[in-house]
Amino acid sequence: MFDVVVIGAGHNGLTAAIVLAMRGLNVAVIDHLPWYGGMSGSKWLAGSKIPVGAYVVGLVPERILRDVGVRLKKFYPDPIAVYLHGDTIVRWWFDLDRRFRELESMGVGNVREMWGSIVDFHRSLERYLLTIDPPSMQELLSDPVLGWFIKKSSRDFLAKYLPPWLWGMFILDFYLDQPAFLVGYYNPPEGWFFPENGREKGAWVLVDELFRRAVEEGVKIYLGIGVSRILVEGGKARGVILEDGSRVEARYVLSTASPANTLIDMLDPGFIDEDIIKRLEKGSPMIGVRRIAVILKEKPKLAGYLEQYRESIIQTPKGEIVVMGNSVIATGGFGIEDLEELILNVRRDAKALEIMDARDLENVFRVRGGNVNHIIMTQDYLFDCRPVCGWGYRTPIEGLYLGGAGTWPGGQLTCIPGWNAAHKLLSDLKNGSG
Ligand SMILES: Cc1cc2nc3c(=O)[nH]c(=O)nc-3n(C[C@H](O)[C@H](O)[C@H](O)COP(=O)(O)OP(=O)(O)OC[C@H]3O[C@@H](n4cnc5c(N)ncnc54)[C@H](O)[C@@H]3O)c2cc1C
Repeated sequence: MFDVVVIGAGHNGLTAAIVLAMRGLNVAVIDHLPWYGGMSGSKWLAGSKIPVGAYVVGLVPERILRDVGVRLKKFYPDPIAVYLHGDTIVRWWFDLDRRFRELESMGVGNVREMWGSIVDFHRSLERYLLTIDPPSMQELLSDPVLGWFIKKSSRDFLAKYLPPWLWGMFILDFYLDQPAFLVGYYNPPEGWFFPENGREKGAWVLVDELFRRAVEEGVKIYLGIGVSRILVEGGKARGVILEDGSRVEARYVLSTASPANTLIDMLDPGFIDEDIIKRLEKGSPMIGVRRIAVILKEKPKLAGYLEQYRESIIQTPKGEIVVMGNSVIATGGFGIEDLEELILNVRRDAKALEIMDARDLENVFRVRGGNVNHIIMTQDYLFDCRPVCGWGYRTPIEGLYLGGAGTWPGGQLTCIPGWNAAHKLLSDLKNGSG
């Protein structure tokens, strides 16, 4: 019998497990995938280690890393990113002044003011991120800075400062008519970095560290076997049933799988109201992200003008590309022919190619719609309405908690939902509720 079974060995599941184990609880983590890290994990393809999903890290609070005992080296390429639009290249330099001058040289007027307002956004958001009770929209509206970012759309914010051809640098088209809050969320002022450990650079380095710490804290991690049902007895979660029929009992269950999959697929019918099920299904549309990984026999040959930016994230209106050693990873709407314009030998020297479309992401990660944020990040599904208004990290079933990307504050590699959910559980345990 465990104190807590965590469903999902993604970065949020591992973070939650460490927090709980560090408080003396007996914790098991279960994932149907053969690797840990979920969408932020890594795998081997034709002799190269590649990210299965996430490659860079943005919004991970230092406080969480300290708290769970993870020390990270951060590699910031300079420029961090280059944005290609037709014949124009915009470089996102590490040095702020240089970055601003680059945009000013293209006729962009108020870039310093724009950046200042993103910095203010993050300063204001900070105090709402690590919380066991997610903030409501009303609460955030009362903050003058965050209120502005909620009332205005991403389009309003970007149009105030930038010509439309530059908007793709900051947000996906899909979110243009959603709150400007998302522009802030996706663009941390410190920028994006590659965690590194001296040998490797990639988001998986952070996940490897989380895994190491979880094992060190005595967490039992079971990979390659999925949870088929959450056991509910007397209205309370009592553990899980695995796909081989075995029963794993626990006092609490914390799922970091997507809320839709947890509440629709892993619970017997009748526990969750029909209108909530409809809401979760509506929040899981197929958005159409694609991820291409190509392993080359030779070093990737970048188009001449790009060679000097080999270490940077290459952004285009179609999506992003990162080059890591002999591999090329592209996310967005790329086809191999689009890649060939930028990486000249991508077809000629390819020795392995793996394409995951939204359907593959759905099947591999068991997330409806293949959504990289588990559920969409539109206004109806943000703040304390993520995934369902007023739930926070709890569910209507006593002892069943949610703590993945489908809870506050949302998707990306942040460790925040897992950390918060674990602390909510600990607080309930202390108060004798939950
Ligand atoms: C192609 C791609 C590129 C991305 N790029 C970036 C990036 O560069 N930077 C960034 O910050 N974010 C990026 N993301 C998003 C980011 O990876 C995710 O938002 C984040 O990893 C979600 O973490 P999580 O722990 O909440 O969920 P997940 O990583 O999805 O982990 C949940 C785990 O639950 C498991 N699970 C589900 N159902 C069951 C079951 N029935 N039984 C057992 N286990 C189950 C899944 O297998 C999974 O391992 C990217 C995602 C993708 C797919």
